[in-house]
Amino acid sequence: MKIEVGDCVRLKKKHPCGSYEWLVLRSGADFRLKCLGCDHQIMIARTALEKNIKSINSSQNTEG
Ligand SMILES: [Zn+2]
Repeated sequence: MKIEVGDCVRLKKKHPCGSYEWLVLRSGADFRLKCLGCDHQIMIARTALEKNIKSINSSQNTEG
């Protein structure tokens, strides 16, 4: 699964604020995500993130 900085990921689990969508701020062995509902930031391990992802909305098609 390919996850890059700038991608918007939809998780299976809802954040307490009600949003399922997160923006990827940093990738690597650990990811930093920002909740699009409340701007809360979290660090999450790649393995944990991949288990929780429902879909990825890549930012690549909006370049330019
Ligand atoms: Zn939130």
